[in-house]
Amino acid sequence: MNQVRVRFAPSPTGPLHIGGVRTALYNYLFAKKNNGTFILRIEDTDQVRYVPGAEEYIKESLKWLGLELDEGPEEGGHYGPYKQSDRRNIYTGYALKLVEKGYAYYAFDTPEELDAMREEETKNGVLAPKYDHTVRMKMKNSLTLSDSEVKEMLNSGVPYVIRIKAPANETISFSDLVRGDVSFNSDDLDDKVMLKADGMPTYHMANIVDDYLMKITHVIRGEEWLSSTAHHVLLYRYLGWEKSMPKFTHLPLILKPTGKGKLSKRDGANFGFPVFPLSWVGETEEESFAGFREFGFLPEATLNFLALVGWNPGTEQEMFDMPDLINSFSIEKIVKSGARFNIDKAKWFNQQYILHKTDKEIATLVKPFVEKAGYNTEPIFLEKVCKLMKTRIELLTEFPEKAKFFFTSEYDYDEKTIAKKWKEENIENVKSLVSWISELSDFSKENIEVTIKSFIESKNLSFGNIFPVLRIAVTGTLQGPDLFETMEILGKNDILSRFTEAFKYFDSILK
Ligand code: GLU
Repeated sequence: MNQVRVRFAPSPTGPLHIGGVRTALYNYLFAKKNNGTFILRIEDTDQVRYVPGAEEYIKESLKWLGLELDEGPEEGGHYGPYKQSDRRNIYTGYALKLVEKGYAYYAFDTPEELDAMREEETKNGVLAPKYDHTVRMKMKNSLTLSDSEVKEMLNSGVPYVIRIKAPANETISFSDLVRGDVSFNSDDLDDKVMLKADGMPTYHMANIVDDYLMKITHVIRGEEWLSSTAHHVLLYRYLGWEKSMPKFTHLPLILKPTGKGKLSKRDGANFGFPVFPLSWVGETEEESFAGFREFGFLPEATLNFLALVGWNPGTEQEMFDMPDLINSFSIEKIVKSGARFNIDKAKWFNQQYILHKTDKEIATLVKPFVEKAGYNTEPIFLEKVCKLMKTRIELLTEFPEKAKFFFTSEYDYDEKTIAKKWKEENIENVKSLVSWISELSDFSKENIEVTIKSFIESKNLSFGNIFPVLRIAVTGTLQGPDLFETMEILGKNDILSRFTEAFKYFDSILK
């Protein structure tokens, strides 16, 4: 087999949807698994839909996820340029070649004439009117006009497009590595435009020419391109490139969490989770989206999660780092049916990856979020807090709120519990315990623990009365990490002033 060469070929028409990221990932994994080449090709022939910043967004997303490119617009390579707008001169020749061979033709129809054709067809009972073999001989094109008329129109600059001539009633088949044999009846195909009036190729033309010239061996892309493949197969045939036709793989749709319908970019806002890898600032709020990165997902977790949306390794294994993914990936194990997008699973993966990181690594990762909250990011302190708190977060962004009491004493107290525990005798005991604590010169967690426990035991008190009050004074709630260690990290001065502040407040609410 030829050396495997795959391409990720996004159009920069907006931020890259998470489905696009999965396509990139599967291409990457397939390339790496087969010692092949992973290529980025920017398909920007549609000038109308071009969105500034989208190309940078695509590249940054791949970078964030560590999907390193072997060839691409910035990486270069032997088959460049890798941006279709820089290749515009290449395509015209191939479109003309199709015309020359009789597989395509010039069409001069104006938008009004096209509308009139559709109207007429609809009147005749055609449900989805299209420019095809049934109408082409009634239209204004090089099949119906004389050679001299065509020449004159071309010379005088009348706008034209080049259309492919889809055959009548023929079965067009190809073999898809996931779906098996796929067939289309050519009657369902229109005479698609290959070269537009602005001289730019359409997606179909540019895509096939580039896949051929870039020696692409496998096309792995979203299911939405399945129906276009019939035209692509025709193009390979018409250009005499059938032998070099890549193998096709169409990936299953990503479905909404409910399983009903395709996951859309609006679902992010509707369900409150990200459907884009990175945040995107659009022109309006509606067009702006938060990304996996900004939600606090780790790139490794995002990849692991996405890999399993539509690919089933066939074992119980769920945790896959990149080398594992590369090793286990195979196209045969891509599923045919739509794959549900389960954000809770994504969070679970994130938690697993957080737990696998060192405290120091987590400190570095949460630092931007802690900084944003305006809290202390002194590295040693942050690392200690991470040691205690990393088991308690699923997303990095949850850290500042969940660990709030390490950074500020402005948290709410669990007043319900205080109402039960802040009673005459207990108050006295707690206060005298605090005076014991204030005597400590070694404020280590071990020493704090021994002091508190021996106080309670020596006075025959109940843990259930004393402990909750201390915890609520120090952290605001009954939940939280090890109290002794929390106290050690915060230090004696801070702890004593928290007690004073809290007790004053407890007194005030229970008066
Ligand atoms: N430019 C197409 C897209 O935006 C590429 C589809 C393909 O891979 O052929 O997805």
